[in-house]
Amino acid sequence: MMDYLLIYYIFSFIIGSIIGSFLNVCIYRIPKGESIVYPPSHCPKCNNRLKWIDLIPIISYIFLKGRCRYCKEKISIKYVLIEFFTGVVFLLLAIKYGISLDYLKYATLFSLLIVISLIDMETMNIYLSTTLTGIVFGLIFLIAQGVLENYILKEYMYYISGAIIPAGIIALIILLTGGMGWGDVEICFISGLFLGLKLSIVMLIASFIIGALISLVLIWGKKKTRKDYIPFGPFIALGTLFALAFGDKLLLWYLNLI
Ligand SMILES: [Zn+2]
Repeated sequence: MMDYLLIYYIFSFIIGSIIGSFLNVCIYRIPKGESIVYPPSHCPKCNNRLKWIDLIPIISYIFLKGRCRYCKEKISIKYVLIEFFTGVVFLLLAIKYGISLDYLKYATLFSLLIVISLIDMETMNIYLSTTLTGIVFGLIFLIAQGVLENYILKEYMYYISGAIIPAGIIALIILLTGGMGWGDVEICFISGLFLGLKLSIVMLIASFIIGALISLVLIWGKKKTRKDYIPFGPFIALGTLFALAFGDKLLLWYLNLI
């Protein structure tokens, strides 16, 4: 039994790093308005098409010592970090959810969040094509879950309100203070649609706390000043990770408290 589990975990990490490699393509191409499927991966410097062996996540980077096989141009370590991070997220989801619809659902959510928040970090922009994809996937999983578990209206509303309430809170912050961006409303909406009401509240609070802490570190380390725009999308992604990892226990503890 243990052996099967171990194989599943290793498999999850490998699939995650392969997906991570595809997410890199999305992060690179979506802001340029390019197709994410065509043309096949090529070196941005010398345009040589990459062979399958160059596309093996993590390993090919180590093997090629972080350089293009043809022109020896340095490849950013960012790509390999995203592959590794996606692999780790998929592994953690496999450990927590086993083989289940939830595993598939949250693996999809994190793939979306990684693309959206990395593009947000690099371009300070959130693209409607990515958020719409997120909402469509969120609805597909909600319907699949509803069919499998015989949801009634109340349960559908639990997820819909999970999307609307935190997104509404951020919209209110924008209207009142002018801070944050409408893209943050969209990411929050997606995450909440996948999480449902309780976990999405945990997600929102956790994103604010993580955001405040990281911003303080960045300002303290003089990487950013108080006036700089610090994208909030990545904090929502981290807040979602936190909500999935600790949300249930935290809610239980809180309910015992009151
Ligand atoms: Zn090259």
